[in-house]
Amino acid sequence: MTRVYNFSAGPACLPEWVLNKASQEMLDAHSSGMSVMEMSHRSSEFENILNTAKDRLRRLMDIPEDYEILFLQGGASLQFSMVPMNLLKHSADIINTGQWTKKAIAEHKKLGDTHVVASSAEDNFTYIPKIKQEDLSPDSDYVYICENNTIYGTKYKTLPPHDGKLLVADMSSCILSEPVDVSQYDLIFAGAQKNIGPAGVTLVIIRKDLLTENEALPSMLNYKTYADNNSMYNTPPTYGIYVCGLVFEWLEEQIGGLEAMEKINHQKAALLYDYIDQSTLYSNPVAKEDRSYMNVPFVTGDKDLDAKFVKEAKEAGFVNIKGHRSVGGMRASIYNAMPVEGVEALVDFMKKFESENTKG
Ligand SMILES: *Cc1c(COP(=O)(O)O)cnc(C)c1O
Repeated sequence: MTRVYNFSAGPACLPEWVLNKASQEMLDAHSSGMSVMEMSHRSSEFENILNTAKDRLRRLMDIPEDYEILFLQGGASLQFSMVPMNLLKHSADIINTGQWTKKAIAEHKKLGDTHVVASSAEDNFTYIPKIKQEDLSPDSDYVYICENNTIYGTKYKTLPPHDGKLLVADMSSCILSEPVDVSQYDLIFAGAQKNIGPAGVTLVIIRKDLLTENEALPSMLNYKTYADNNSMYNTPPTYGIYVCGLVFEWLEEQIGGLEAMEKINHQKAALLYDYIDQSTLYSNPVAKEDRSYMNVPFVTGDKDLDAKFVKEAKEAGFVNIKGHRSVGGMRASIYNAMPVEGVEALVDFMKKFESENTKG
């Protein structure tokens, strides 16, 4: 067996500890004589799996008791509609930082008054626009951000002002990468396939007082339905939730929590950025103060050389490192599950490629 270093932006690599544990439990999970995939979601075994996962996540992220943890389906993309369906009463203020906020803006516009309060589009989203309280619309219900921009490699290091308004954050590609003060937010959502587990699960963390009856809203699109039924109004993505629970267990017991995870993530990101910044071949276009710790785009400035890099990297066991088509070049996604050794090996490969492809 040879495992590659998988730098995919998502679905992304999972911790080997998690994959091993899942494989050990594949045929007989928790002495049930069956796989988690075969269990009734109404069984006490599965209920225990789901509640244990929620408890671990609450401890890991220090989620206050007045917030609900929900497991949904439909990906982060369904949240582009569910957020306005549940929270937009007057209008929404969205900061446009790339592909994922563009899609959120498009869905919001179908449902209500939507203001793009700032955008870094004119600079190909290479920075996070800084806004002031007075940039916000007087009647907006919430400020919506994408906290880590997976494609462009930018991240909010400080939150935008939002006095008197709710704050909604798409954390799909940075959740669990560092400690966060959940009480600063009113709704956090994330597709699982980057930093939480397999595709098919969407995590929502929402302040309980925002869960309201709404006769006009289809039940499956109302957060309250999920909250009232412990995320089991209908059959939840059982196996996916189980694997998410294993990732939470890995973070708690193998890594030692989110502060320890953050240290490792900063170490990995520094290895790449420090090398790229002193390199004569590679560059990263993002404003330094806004650089992501999870997604590191880089280019050589020559399309053919980029293609050669991607091809040779793959042959050397570094896969899925091609950049998104809107940015070009390369992108190394270095989520929680990417070990430090993977990033060290990639930097060694980049050095070798640089020396082979530059003169003098
Ligand atoms: C991947 C991603 C999405 C889309 O997620 P789906 O689960 O495919 O809908 C949305 N937002 C961000 C920040 C992402 O990285």
